[in-house]
Amino acid sequence: MAATLLDGKALGAKVREEVAAAVAELDHVGLATILVGDDAASHIYIDLKQKAATNAGMEARDIKFTGAASEEEVLAAIADVNADDAIDGLLVQLPLPGHLDENRIIAAIAPEKDIDGIHPMNAGRLYLGRPTLVPGTPLGIMRMLDEYEIPLEGARAVVIGRSAIVGKPMAHLLLQRNATVTICHSRTRDLSRHTLNADVLVAAVGSPHLVTPDMVKEGATVVDVGMNRGEGKKVLGDVDPAVIERAAYMTPVPGGVGPMTIAMVLENTVTAAKLRQAAAVAPAGN
Ligand code: NAP
Repeated sequence: MAATLLDGKALGAKVREEVAAAVAELDHVGLATILVGDDAASHIYIDLKQKAATNAGMEARDIKFTGAASEEEVLAAIADVNADDAIDGLLVQLPLPGHLDENRIIAAIAPEKDIDGIHPMNAGRLYLGRPTLVPGTPLGIMRMLDEYEIPLEGARAVVIGRSAIVGKPMAHLLLQRNATVTICHSRTRDLSRHTLNADVLVAAVGSPHLVTPDMVKEGATVVDVGMNRGEGKKVLGDVDPAVIERAAYMTPVPGGVGPMTIAMVLENTVTAAKLRQAAAVAPAGN
């Protein structure tokens, strides 16, 4: 029997409605994005996030630099946003042009405004099992798994990919929910030996249709993070669509993880706003 599709488009719309309701209750919620350079895909992502933030009732500030911007200029813009009380969440679109030190720029974002959850402080809190702001993609995947009541406790979970923005935080979130987690990467020997054990398989690789039906356990839940450009404008996932015949649940591409990511970035902005408001009335704890 074909897998049930995890509908990220519908769930993402629901999350955005919840966010809009939360924004209406708070006095004001502000989000700023910083984009450097002219990467076409990055411009599309930023425009989508700006539009989604405005539609949710947020103040959305769109800061753009040409590819010639210096590190000091970008750092100065981050410092301005950090100090601006009207802005709760700041997102710097990655990748940055090669002449900019990505680590230095990420570290300059105020951790309490880091709605991408990539500042070392937020990554460390997740590692320690005390997450605050978590990257939107893995957070959205957890939300989808919960929505469809996929059991995680004691489940064998395999994450393919170990990036700081998807694979690693994904693995930590699954571990926190008491799954037994294996992380695979480009040097993993005999990938199928691992994936065939997975009750929950997350592919975050960037390699079109890498995961084929023979690599998937019958009845598994398969999450496809991949967004690879196919011919024309077609977007291909990391999972071969034929896996639908082996999996019990599967995310479609498009319409699965992608819409959840944007929704969760907005939700993180609301979380950041609430945390800042709470910190304003009581000194921050740990
Ligand atoms: P990334 O930083 O390039 O990381 C890719 C990971 O895959 C690396 O850890 C790499 O291993 C591993 N890998 C590469 N080839 C492999 C192979 N043959 N077998 C096993 N592992 C392999 O990419 P990312 O930022 O995590 O993104 C992954 C994909 O998700 C991309 O297609 C991206 O466009 C997509 N994405 C989608 C969303 C969304 O909202 N839907 C959000 C973010 C990313 P090494 O570490 O050993 O190099």
